[in-house]
Amino acid sequence: MQTMDPSLSGQRVAVIGAGIAGLTAAYRLKEAGANVTVFDAQDVVGGRMGDRRTGDLVYNSGARLVYPFGRAFNRLIADLALQDALVPLHRLSAQCVSPHGEHTIELMPSPRSLAAPGLSLTERVKLVAHALAMRGAKRHVDPDWATSALRVDPALDDTTLAAYIRETLGPNVLARMVEPVFRATRSFNPETLSALFYVSTVPHMIGESTVHTLKGGMGRVCQMLASRLDVRTATPVRKLRRHADGVELALADGTTFSADHAVCAVEGSLAGTLIDAPTREERQMFDAVRYNALGVVHYGFSQPLPPRMNFAMRGLPGRIATYQQLPAAPAQGRPLTQIYCQLTPEAADDAVRQGLEDNLDVLIRDELRARIPGFDRHVVQVTNQWIARKLPVFSPGYGARVDAFWRWQEVGMNNANTESGTERVVYCGDWLSQALLTGACASGERAARALLGRMQAEPARLAA
Ligand SMILES: Cc1cc2nc3c(=O)[nH]c(=O)nc-3n(C[C@H](O)[C@H](O)[C@H](O)COP(=O)(O)OP(=O)(O)OC[C@H]3O[C@@H](n4cnc5c(N)ncnc54)[C@H](O)[C@@H]3O)c2cc1C
Repeated sequence: MQTMDPSLSGQRVAVIGAGIAGLTAAYRLKEAGANVTVFDAQDVVGGRMGDRRTGDLVYNSGARLVYPFGRAFNRLIADLALQDALVPLHRLSAQCVSPHGEHTIELMPSPRSLAAPGLSLTERVKLVAHALAMRGAKRHVDPDWATSALRVDPALDDTTLAAYIRETLGPNVLARMVEPVFRATRSFNPETLSALFYVSTVPHMIGESTVHTLKGGMGRVCQMLASRLDVRTATPVRKLRRHADGVELALADGTTFSADHAVCAVEGSLAGTLIDAPTREERQMFDAVRYNALGVVHYGFSQPLPPRMNFAMRGLPGRIATYQQLPAAPAQGRPLTQIYCQLTPEAADDAVRQGLEDNLDVLIRDELRARIPGFDRHVVQVTNQWIARKLPVFSPGYGARVDAFWRWQEVGMNNANTESGTERVVYCGDWLSQALLTGACASGERAARALLGRMQAEPARLAA
């Protein structure tokens, strides 16, 4: 909990983006005494952390799970007195479907992971050694920050996850354990990512067997934060201009909003379109940001189905990476049995190529007919979910770019002689931290800290 600084009460801050990063920044700034207004383009707050309902189908706008290791997110949960709302899911696992049958994959690695079929003896021995090495790395890495893995080995930023796992643990561990999880939960192929996410999070997973959901829905945290803030939803910002004395937001309705400072907490690939006259450092950062896309089809089913979650091993025919049966649970707001089908990364690419982003069902319906007899007869509702920007891609080299960008932001904020106005804006979001809720949250905290330092220095600068 921050203490209120009376010198900040006259300072106006505009926060663009009411996802968890922007709301965390806004909350921390307000807590310190600043006068904060938050803008979001959508009708509801939360961005990729929210709850959606279409007819009787309920689903998430993004995140479904809270991992126990998230430091910034857990701080926020404690501040909002929401600890009791965390619902534990012990030993969450999926059945991985492979050409050789099915095997169990646990989301949080444990000694049982050693029982995965198809690994050589050498690979099993390497897994044990790796688990010990990862445990040793725990105190060096911060799961809120992917780039904290650079402290373990700077080369991890230039190594693909696929190469790292193949070399450290062997090809069967990659194909049977790591790849299915990354494809099914993150929609990434391991050759597209650096090893930073893995090495910054896995040390904190060892010895943990429980993840959480949130009673009342994942959107609850953002709604609670928004209820304590001045938030304007359905108010897209078109342009963010800065000058020596402040910032001006051009809003989509043609009006403007002036403030002393701004926090830009929109998805990284949109930040570049917002900021007027970007600097070289900003352009370099925006050019490096990429997102993967996610396609999900949610089906409402008239027949009861047992709970089930399948991950598909890469190379199997089919376009579904994650298949989940969710029994109806009216008390929890889910009146229908639901089937969740998440497309493989390749099928998402197909959808874009064929212009089927709004009609993904046609890509997977035959597969479902083959899986469930009488499928068409029992489907009572279908909802298409296409998320063009699911997660920022920490591809090889991206970590160094993120670190350099934060250095640039923080040096700029501390530099009391800057007159160009660049120090008026600070950026945050999962694209500058870690592709997780807690990463987004940590980046919001860090942006607020940087801005507060600047604002506290400002009256002194003006007086000098
Ligand atoms: C399908 C999916 C599953 C996930 N699963 C998990 C999980 O289980 N656990 C986990 O920890 N993380 C998960 N994540 C990641 C997590 O959801 C994100 O890292 C986090 O929510 C990102 O928060 P953010 O505030 O950085 O961005 P966002 O939530 O994207 O917020 C950005 C906000 O900016 C707004 N905006 C954009 N442009 C403008 C504009 N011009 N004017 C005004 N507002 C604008 C947007 O409307 C949005 O609300 C998942 C993500 C997805 C998509």
